[in-house]
Amino acid sequence: PVRVRFCPSPTGNPHVGLVRTALFNWAFARHNQGTLVFRIEDTDAARDSEESYNQLLDAMRWLGFDWDEGPEVGGPHAPYRQSQRMDIYKDVADKLVAAGKAYPCYCSTEELDERREAARAAGKPSGYDGHCRELTAEQIAAYEAEGRKPIIRFRMPDRTITFTDLVRGDITYEPENVPDYGIVRANGAPLYTLVNPVDDALMEITHVLRGEDLLSSTPRQIALYDALKDLGIAKITPEFGHLPYVMGEGNKKLSKRDPQSSLNLYRERGFLPEGLLNYLSLLGWSLSADRDIFSIEEMVAAFDVKDVQPNPARFDLKKCESINGDHIRLLDPKEFAARCEPWLKAPVAPWAPEDFDEAKWAAIAPHAQTRLKVLSEITDNVDFLFLPEPVFDEPSWTKAMKEGSDALLKTAREKLEAADWTSPESLKEAVLAAGEAHGLKLGKAQAPVRVAVTGRTIGLPLFESLEILGKEKSLARIDAALA
Ligand code: GLU
Repeated sequence: PVRVRFCPSPTGNPHVGLVRTALFNWAFARHNQGTLVFRIEDTDAARDSEESYNQLLDAMRWLGFDWDEGPEVGGPHAPYRQSQRMDIYKDVADKLVAAGKAYPCYCSTEELDERREAARAAGKPSGYDGHCRELTAEQIAAYEAEGRKPIIRFRMPDRTITFTDLVRGDITYEPENVPDYGIVRANGAPLYTLVNPVDDALMEITHVLRGEDLLSSTPRQIALYDALKDLGIAKITPEFGHLPYVMGEGNKKLSKRDPQSSLNLYRERGFLPEGLLNYLSLLGWSLSADRDIFSIEEMVAAFDVKDVQPNPARFDLKKCESINGDHIRLLDPKEFAARCEPWLKAPVAPWAPEDFDEAKWAAIAPHAQTRLKVLSEITDNVDFLFLPEPVFDEPSWTKAMKEGSDALLKTAREKLEAADWTSPESLKEAVLAAGEAHGLKLGKAQAPVRVAVTGRTIGLPLFESLEILGKEKSLARIDAALA
């Protein structure tokens, strides 16, 4: 049976790279009727935080992911927070040392730096040189007498390591490029290099899907698995698949620190989880050449990690927004209205709660649903209905209120006065006629009307907007603009 894991460290805010990794693991688990293990890698007390842990859980729930083992749901391998598994790592590290598969290393940082520089200068590999590999009992006693505290280093086997990456095919590492590496700090704190594969082994993970940035740790982990198998701790070595980098602006790797990568930003702007996930699934994968809008169920049904492309994927915010807009259009109208609610209420909405009008909202909502890219845009698009006066948007006024626009507005007001306010068609005729009287096409003629009534040059269809706001208020706003 397939067992995959999503195992973030709770540092900082959740970011889109993390979400993509969670998505691919989740889809892989669901496609294969497998198990998704959600594990929290919080062994770095200096960087991990409870706030970040809570944000991670909240993000996973918001995105609609479920997990079969992990925080809040438990499971046979509990606890799923590494900070609560420290005795396990200590025990494994002791066993590795006792079996000679790892050893204490007393080299100080200065000594390591010095030797690394020398190796570099001589054009030799500059990784750990094996200095403490074969220390005698006397040498160890001498170091201890000096008061040195050792780290624990894993002894890499002297052999070529080859594995078949699920995304990239065969990958080979030569031993000189994978030196012995630290697994426990001098203060006894176990490192990612140990705890991650140890838990993958104990939790019987079958497939590791993670970012390309971790590719170089894979040969070390494979060697560690072999050692854990010898000790009876691991049963199998999982298969590995390394997901492509996500590139941001200027073709640079999208980093966690990039504002564009923060999941909170997407939530605040009103992306739908289904829209965001649809877009993120395209970072390295595709459903078919001619379809980029699909549901998460369709993704699960089709997802095979072998179809993931190894080349870097470009994060394109415009495309992400456009896909999100398509998902907004796919919502049931009632659902659309419900999802807009947070933006229609305090503290986000700029109007007084008592000025909100359900009937007007119901009338305008369908026009908004066909146009929004993200839900947060709803506020600016409908505020003209609920604010006592339209907002004053300086650039819009400068753009629309030019010489001659007063004359046009006067004519438009007359014609609108006489129009049928139950018919957007009739309102359009009125503005069209006013434009003709001044030698203006409809687009040019309607701009000052729009700005006078809604405050902005851009918005929902004008004549429907006028109808919904009503004759009295619309005309009063044109008067105010003329005053
Ligand atoms: N905690 C690690 C990270 O967030 C997990 C890496 C892995 O998937 O092996 O980078």
